Amino acid sequence: MPDYLEHVLKRYAPDHSGEVKDAYRNAPECDPDQLAIAITTVEGATYCAGDADNHFPIESMSKPFTYGLALEDSGEDAVHRKIGVEPSGDAFNEISLEPSTGRPFNAMINAGAIAAHALVSGADCDERTARIRQHYSQLAGRELSFDESEHNVAHRNLAIGHMLRTVDVLEEEPAEVVRGYTWQCAFSVTTRDLSLMAATFANGGLQPISGDRLLSRATVRQVLSVMLTCGMYDAAGDWMSAVGIPAKSGIAGGIIGVLPGQLGIAVYSPRVDSRGNSVRGVELFEHLSRDMELHLMETP
Ligand code: GLN
Repeated sequence: MPDYLEHVLKRYAPDHSGEVKDAYRNAPECDPDQLAIAITTVEGATYCAGDADNHFPIESMSKPFTYGLALEDSGEDAVHRKIGVEPSGDAFNEISLEPSTGRPFNAMINAGAIAAHALVSGADCDERTARIRQHYSQLAGRELSFDESEHNVAHRNLAIGHMLRTVDVLEEEPAEVVRGYTWQCAFSVTTRDLSLMAATFANGGLQPISGDRLLSRATVRQVLSVMLTCGMYDAAGDWMSAVGIPAKSGIAGGIIGVLPGQLGIAVYSPRVDSRGNSVRGVELFEHLSRDMELHLMETP
């Protein structure tokens, strides 16, 4: 397996298209040529190639994990009252709400993710952030920490927070919620961590190594459904036809994918396309999906 993964990485290494989004690059020394892949099975075996132990911010790949935690903490009904499950077809940071319900379209775009953050248990920003940190750390199987340098990109998210407050999707001071959401995006992870976090979804909420139940199966089914339809923003349809598994990208260049009952997959390459998805990350997933027949609609 490692040889196969090295071989796949080598094939895409020469592609330097796309750009690193400076506003989200919390490590000034970030090398845009980094390339990594990690696959964790539901039995807990991890296979890595490339820069799989380098750190980078989780960014929007945090959204499915916080959505899962919100479902566990606040219950499905309370979460559905505040956040929809329809693909928006818009960019991740679109300032928009569902016209018919006044809710954010889904928890994978920023509006829904900020609403989901507020539905995690905790009396204030610090308590919620501590809860998220504990949950992400259990998913990854090691203590994670975050970097506070992302505040320069919060203005648009603050605008989204205020919009959510006017329609009572947020019931508290938006700035505090956005502060917590910004920290949530700044958790520092490796490709290896992400594959284990994704494998917990693949394993129905049981962390493959510790064996701890971190999420109910119903929560995982809900999160994976929304990842499948909304995880790649306005590229969700392209992704579904070319790759065909639930996934989530982050603007720092990571992508996670989940093959239910089998694998968690993570890739990392910092240059992203115009939709904010890692260029080589998408190529790697397309390749793996073809080669390993991962597409959920594949017929025998
Ligand atoms: N922190 C970023 C934001 O909320 C995450 C965006 C992303 O990864 N697409 O704007």
